Amino acid sequence: MAAGELIGSFALTEPTAGSDPAAMKSFARRDGTGDGAGWILDGAKRWIGLASVADVLVVWAMTDDGVRGFVVPAGTPGVTATPIGQKLSMRASIQCDVTFDGVRLGPEALLPAARGLRGPFSCLNEARYGIAWGAMGAARDSYEAALKYSQERLQFGRPLAGYQLTQEKLVNMLVEIQKGTLLALQLGRLKDAGKLRPEQISLGKLNNVREAIAIAREARTILGGNGITLDYSPLRHAANLESVRTYEGTDEVHTLILGQHLTGLAAFR
Ligand SMILES: Cc1cc2nc3c(=O)[nH]c(=O)nc-3n(C[C@H](O)[C@H](O)[C@H](O)COP(=O)(O)OP(=O)(O)OC[C@H]3O[C@@H](n4cnc5c(N)ncnc54)[C@H](O)[C@@H]3O)c2cc1C
Repeated sequence: MAAGELIGSFALTEPTAGSDPAAMKSFARRDGTGDGAGWILDGAKRWIGLASVADVLVVWAMTDDGVRGFVVPAGTPGVTATPIGQKLSMRASIQCDVTFDGVRLGPEALLPAARGLRGPFSCLNEARYGIAWGAMGAARDSYEAALKYSQERLQFGRPLAGYQLTQEKLVNMLVEIQKGTLLALQLGRLKDAGKLRPEQISLGKLNNVREAIAIAREARTILGGNGITLDYSPLRHAANLESVRTYEGTDEVHTLILGQHLTGLAAFR
């Protein structure tokens, strides 16, 4: 996978356990006794990226020893991955419902060092950090599309860019893009220094996705009717950012993480 030769898939979310992965029902039980004992995995996952085309699924499941991770090769008997259709967001990517029905795995399938939810959460922290940058990329592209269009489109005899109301929109977009990009840069510097904390990643993910979706929508208004066609990117970015604000921790989950950090009081349940 690291060499880019195999496609991997990360299976944490379940039909009834999204924001609260500790409520997962997928269960792996020992298949035999002793060191050579394998595992039997049962359960269901939902929204699993690339599962139907992946070579390897990393599956998080409850065991008698708490949450553990398992490497499940594609094609293992009992694994079924069905792409979720009719999406209005992230239409070019695949997410699947995956079921595990008495899936037999060898002892080598267990990830030895990942114990409890710290395992998947350490993966999520990497992805959330990346999203802080990626959201700003979508915002920047939306802004640039709106700026170009506003310079070319004439209404009332002048370019849209020449009107103060349009300029205010463009300036507000740019201000948030610069702030969000600097925030991502600072997160990267902290990461390089080995000092990046999970709540700082939450702040970056929450802010940058929230601002990016607002920028994409505002950019769409400058494009008028043409902005609702696929000829222009902002509404596509806005629709995709609806997924981004949901995966890798929703806005609400990151708000609760930050709220707990500020107050010392957990308000998750
Ligand atoms: C495009 C896409 C790709 C994805 N890819 C993957 C993947 O590859 N692997 C994977 O494992 N998962 C993946 N996911 C799943 C994603 O991580 C979940 O959708 C996400 O964690 C939210 O879970 P849920 O959809 O079940 O919503 P729920 O957890 O049911 O939440 C619904 C709403 O309730 C809110 N809520 C929940 N709890 C609280 C609370 N305590 N207080 C206040 N509000 C609350 C949420 O913030 C949200 O607004 C993907 C999802 C999408 C849309």
